[in-house]
Amino acid sequence: MHRITVIGGGFAGLTAAITAAEAGAEVTVHEAHHTLGGRARTAAGPYRTNEGPHALYAGGPHWTWLRRRGLIGPLASVPPREAARLRLRHRGTLRRTPPLAMVRLLRPGLRRAPVDADFLSWAAHHVGEEGARAAAHYAAVALFHHDPGSLSAAFVQERLRRAAKLPPEAHYPRGGWETVVDRMAARAWNLGVRVETLSRVDTVPTRTPVVVATSLDAARRLLGDDSLSWPSGRTTLVDLAVRTRRGDAFAVSDLDAPGWVERFTAQDRTLAPAGEQLIQGQIPIAPRESKADGTARAEQLLDLGFPGWRERVTWRREAVAAGRTGAVDPPGTSWRDRPAVDRGDGVYLAGDQVAAPGVLAEVSFTSALTAVSLALGRDALDLKSA
Ligand SMILES: Cc1cc2nc3c(=O)[nH]c(=O)nc-3n(C[C@H](O)[C@H](O)[C@H](O)COP(=O)(O)OP(=O)(O)OC[C@H]3O[C@@H](n4cnc5c(N)ncnc54)[C@H](O)[C@@H]3O)c2cc1C
Repeated sequence: MHRITVIGGGFAGLTAAITAAEAGAEVTVHEAHHTLGGRARTAAGPYRTNEGPHALYAGGPHWTWLRRRGLIGPLASVPPREAARLRLRHRGTLRRTPPLAMVRLLRPGLRRAPVDADFLSWAAHHVGEEGARAAAHYAAVALFHHDPGSLSAAFVQERLRRAAKLPPEAHYPRGGWETVVDRMAARAWNLGVRVETLSRVDTVPTRTPVVVATSLDAARRLLGDDSLSWPSGRTTLVDLAVRTRRGDAFAVSDLDAPGWVERFTAQDRTLAPAGEQLIQGQIPIAPRESKADGTARAEQLLDLGFPGWRERVTWRREAVAAGRTGAVDPPGTSWRDRPAVDRGDGVYLAGDQVAAPGVLAEVSFTSALTAVSLALGRDALDLKSA
């Protein structure tokens, strides 16, 4: 029987642990925190904010894998009357429909964007600069980067398409991602996975194989390997609860600059006490910008989409997520150029900044499958279809 050690009990670590245990391996997971889930944890309440993921994209490989195992659970969908309250800020005012130039970039017939060009130049060539900028800023909802137009055209185009798809790909686990994490943890437990929480690993275990399923920063420190780095975003997160008012927007997407504010209780009433709404905003900020700059831009979007919100606030919190929103690929690079999963000597990386395809948490998922298939010496495709 294979024995495998997984360091990190987030979405990647749990995926690796379940996959390895299903393949018959004896698995031990070490998690530094006292609970599992990593960035996929949800606050206890009364305001059930997610630190990281909100949306589970139905087009991703993790969707099928989780569903086959009954791990997704009840989903909260956006009622049509709420979906109709999606607003876009364009040229300083709110509108209901995207600018035509931006829509033209979503035409199914449009060729795949090149890896080597930056998105803004490529898109401006097709629809002009204004539409290109609006599209880049819209895609920021899945990019968390202050200058999405400067990234690889192929990388941004994939995220733009998936973020704008109709019917929407984004689904929301009722009660937050923690409910998915709890089901994954139960599945791992039932498969005999040994889970050790409050178990920070400071040196790589001598018994291999080992899957390092931490953030890339933590993996760099743990493995003492300075080559383990890749660009990511830096984003101001503004979470607030407001007293309910009819007519509030469902979400406001900023097309003048990257930024997104969403009322998550529109789809899931369980996230805040009765009579209150939970709103979360994410405003990507440039290296020279501060948290306050992001907060100021979030407040502009709130002023537009949620009239009188300042007088209705019952709770509020702000933070900066730096390097925690997954990989972004500059022009000339793709996921294949990121730090490889196989580090040699029986050590494998899983996480959202490593060499694996997908959007956001899908990269953690795909790399976890690859890491386990390499660790157990099996064909990755066998595992994917399992
Ligand atoms: C604001 C925000 C919004 C996001 N929105 C979405 C979204 O809508 N959809 C989506 O798909 N993704 C989203 N993401 C990305 C998603 O959160 C991540 O891709 C995913 O949660 C990463 O999971 P992971 O297991 O790779 O890493 P993590 O969740 O970071 O897990 C790593 C784990 O390793 C543990 N650890 C670290 N060092 C050690 C050590 N030395 N020993 C033991 N344990 C250790 C940590 O405690 C942690 O539990 C978002 C992220 C952020 C920040």
